[in-house]
Amino acid sequence: MVFEGLADKLQGALQKLKSKGKLTENDVKEVMREVKLALLEADVNFKVVKEFIDKVKDRAVGQEVMESLTPGQQVVKIVHEELTALMGTTHSKITFASKPPTVIMLVGLQGAGKTTTGGKLGAYLKKLGKRPLLVAGDIYRPAAIKQLQVVGGQLDIPVFSLGDKVSPVQIAKEGIEHAGKHGNDVVIIDTAGRLHIDENLMEELENIKKVVIPHEILLVVDAMTGQDAVNVAENFNNRLGIDGVILTKMDGDTRGGAALSVRSVAQKPIKFVGMGEKLSELEPFHPDRMASRILGMGDVLSLIEKAQANFDEKKARELEKKIRSQDFTFEDFLDQLQQMKKLGPLSQLLEMIPGANSKQLKDIEINDKELAHIEAMISSMTTEERRNPSIINGSRRKRIAAGSGMTVQKVNNLLKQFEQTKKMMKQFSDMEKGMKKGGKMK
Ligand code: GDP
Repeated sequence: MVFEGLADKLQGALQKLKSKGKLTENDVKEVMREVKLALLEADVNFKVVKEFIDKVKDRAVGQEVMESLTPGQQVVKIVHEELTALMGTTHSKITFASKPPTVIMLVGLQGAGKTTTGGKLGAYLKKLGKRPLLVAGDIYRPAAIKQLQVVGGQLDIPVFSLGDKVSPVQIAKEGIEHAGKHGNDVVIIDTAGRLHIDENLMEELENIKKVVIPHEILLVVDAMTGQDAVNVAENFNNRLGIDGVILTKMDGDTRGGAALSVRSVAQKPIKFVGMGEKLSELEPFHPDRMASRILGMGDVLSLIEKAQANFDEKKARELEKKIRSQDFTFEDFLDQLQQMKKLGPLSQLLEMIPGANSKQLKDIEINDKELAHIEAMISSMTTEERRNPSIINGSRRKRIAAGSGMTVQKVNNLLKQFEQTKKMMKQFSDMEKGMKKGGKMK
């Protein structure tokens, strides 16, 4: 779950307000103290926390809120708005050059995920209809060039390299010329990183910048490094002038500090977040949607976009019909799981559904290995059982377990998971219907 600890604590604190009919200033203060602690524990920059809390308090104890019919809800709304503002308010897109190619320079420390992100960004742009070229400008890290070539090969995106004996400035320059000649409208330059910020690195990056005049300099930072990531962003920005940040490893055990402080401290927007090692796991960053996820309000828009980008539309329509008519079977379940695998871990998807809490998510977590087990169990079912799981009684469960080499317990779990998934999908479809009718999401 995104920022699990922070999300749990914030939601817990705000829950207390939501249930109250009337609020006193003290109630708000008390809860804001908890919110403050939660943010500090999440490694959010101290100054950022202080400003945030002051702003929320100021707005929350205003007459309008206190005298409204639902003061608790109003405070939650204010927290949502201020969290959104903290992360930049609006979604910051890549600026494309009016005359191609658009040149994007990726910078960052070693291990931040620059090379991987170069590939991911290429894949993302390709989906938008662009024709990207990756340029291998990291000539120092052993195997960086090879890594980019492998990534490019996997994505069917061309990679320009002049080996490791030519200066990065020259490589960047020739890379752009190459793009011009070969119809590539976006050039993504991978640059060298170091373990720490050092003078040589900065000079080299400045030289590249001077020669190629990139349209976007994007700094790749590892979200897991918390406040360090924020310092790195501040430093790179002061020295090089960056246009935005890509936060990687947001799928990991990050407490959230970097995502919540980078914008305020470095004054530059987060443009994308890396949500996994796979090359498809890069998401445009939407401050409001992230705030919703942190506050447990889900993120239906991102979920829909993800699904649209990855699903086979005909299949999706068939599935939608089945979910609506409650006709969803184990065959569809298996099919669905395989499609979902393309979207990333199920737990990541489910947290985008409003109201899905972390406990529920843990219950449903399915990993790739389990997927193979599930496949085996479903294969051991008869067609009738797959279509009508309610007939799967004790002796059938034993037979399915024996047939798939699993325990009866595992079969029981699968049946439970199936029911839960079905229920979640029903919720999702009802919610969507509600939205279409013009109703508001809670
Ligand atoms: P570079 O030195 O900055 O070029 O870093 P790499 O691209 O080689 O990435 C370093 C490591 O981070 C690799 O093992 C990547 O698979 C991993 N990585 C990059 N982005 C992400 C991400 O968003 N999530 C996770 N979990 N791992 C990532």
